[in-house]
Amino acid sequence: MKICMVGTGYVGLVTGACFAENGNDVICIDNNKKKIEQMQRGKPPIYEPGLDEMVKRNRREGRLKFTTNLKDAIKESVIIFITVGTPPHEDGSADLTHVLSVARKIGQAMNDYKVVVTKSTVPVGTTEKVREIIRQETDVPFDVASNPEFLKEGAAIEDFMRPDRVLVGVDNPNVAELMKELYAPFVRTGKPILIMDIRSSELTKYASNAMLATRISFMNEMANLCEKLGADISLLRKGIGSDPRIGPSFLFPGVGYGGSCFPKDVRAIIKTAEEKGYELLILRDVERVNQRQKNILAEKVIKRFGKTLKGKIFALWGLSFKPNTDDMREAPSIVIINRLMKLGAKIKAYDPVAINEAKKVFGGKVVYGKRGYEILKGADALVIVTEWNEFREPDFDKIKRLLKTPVIFDGRNIYNPSKLKEMGFEYYGIGY
Ligand code: NAD
Repeated sequence: MKICMVGTGYVGLVTGACFAENGNDVICIDNNKKKIEQMQRGKPPIYEPGLDEMVKRNRREGRLKFTTNLKDAIKESVIIFITVGTPPHEDGSADLTHVLSVARKIGQAMNDYKVVVTKSTVPVGTTEKVREIIRQETDVPFDVASNPEFLKEGAAIEDFMRPDRVLVGVDNPNVAELMKELYAPFVRTGKPILIMDIRSSELTKYASNAMLATRISFMNEMANLCEKLGADISLLRKGIGSDPRIGPSFLFPGVGYGGSCFPKDVRAIIKTAEEKGYELLILRDVERVNQRQKNILAEKVIKRFGKTLKGKIFALWGLSFKPNTDDMREAPSIVIINRLMKLGAKIKAYDPVAINEAKKVFGGKVVYGKRGYEILKGADALVIVTEWNEFREPDFDKIKRLLKTPVIFDGRNIYNPSKLKEMGFEYYGIGY
C-alpha cells in the first residue's frame, strides 16, 4: 500500500520503517529540514534498537523515503498517518496545533480519495476536528480513522512488528477492512485488531496510559510504606503479582514515571474530564504521587549527606527516562540532578546513549563520563537512576575501590540489599 507518515519522530519513523519492512511504500514527512536531511544521509536522529538497520535496508530497497515536501507525498499516498507531537499546554491539555495545521495542509494537497488516520495521541473529538478542517479545504472524498499507537520506546520495533493488539476507530466499515488488510501481516500470531468507534478508540489510548501510570504510582506508594513498616517491597510485589487478577508486570517501584507519554497523557485526560465538569480524582493523585517520587532519591541523599552538599560529588548511572532509549523528556534524572546541584553537589553522569540529549538539558553543568566506572573515582556515592542492563552485574569490588565512601542509592532496586550490605556497602533502595 502507499502510505505516508506526517511527522518523523519516534512514532512516525518507527512505524513508517515497520510498514516498509512489510512491503509497503512509505514516505516519511517532517517539517524539520535538518531531521529529514539526516535521514536522507541514512542516520536516524533517535536511538532505538534495530532501527538503523531497518531504515537502511528499506531505503536501499526503495520502500522508504524521506521528504519535507508534504504536498507531493500526500498526492502519492492513499493512507496518511498523522504522527506529529501533541505536547502539553501549560494547563495540561493537549496542544493540537501541529495536528490541526497538518490536517489543513493535507486538505489543501488532496487530489484523490484518501484515508487520514490520527496515530498521534489525541483527545476525544480530535479526529472529528481533523475531518472538519480537511472538508473546509477540499471536495475530494476522504475518510478519517483513529489508530492510536502503543509502542514503547526502547522496544518500539518489536512492539510494532508484534503488537498485543491493534486499535482502530472508524465510522465506515470499508476503512475498517482497509486497516485490517494493512495490519494483517503484523497480527499473524492471532493478536486482535480491535475495531471500534472513533471516540472510544481515542479515549482507550489515554485510559491505557493512565492505568499503567496508576500501577506505577500505586507500587511506589507501597514501596514507601514498606520502608516505614519494615516490610520488603520485592516480596510484596511477588505476593500480589501472582494473583492472576493483578498479574506480575508493571509492578516495579522506582523513581517515578517520565518520558513523553505518561506524564502528558495523565494530565491531558484529567483536563478532558475537567472540561466536561468531571474530576478524575484517582489520576490527580497518581500525578501527585509521581511528583513526590521523582524527588525520593534526592531526599535519601540529603538525609544521608545533609542539606548542604557543597564539596560532595555524586556519580549517576543512567540519564534517559528508561533503558534502551536516549529520550530525556520528563526524565526523573532531571529532577534528581537539579535538586542535588541546587544544594551545591557536583554531578558526574554516565549513560550508554543519552549523553547528547542530556547535554541539551544540563549543558556543561554536569560532567559526563564515557564509561560507568570512570566517573566513580573520588565520588561520595553512586546513584542508580535508569536500569540499563549493563548496570545490573557490575564489579562491586571495583566500585568500592573507586568511590570515596561505599554508598549506593539504587533508584530501581536492581541490587540485592542484603548482599550489598554484606559486601560492606551502605545501600539505599526504593522501599529500603
Ligand atoms: P516526536 O516529537 O518525536 O515527533 C514528532 C515529529 O513531528 C517531529 O519530528 C516534528 O518535527 C514533526 N512535526 C511537527 N509539526 C509538523 C508539521 N506541521 N509537519 C510535519 N512534521 C511536523 O513525537 P513522538 O514521540 O513521535 O510522538 C508523536 C505522537 O505519538 C504523540 O501524540 C505521542 O503522544 C504519541 N505516542 C508516542 C509514543 C512514544 O513512545 N514516543 C508512543 C505512542 C504514542
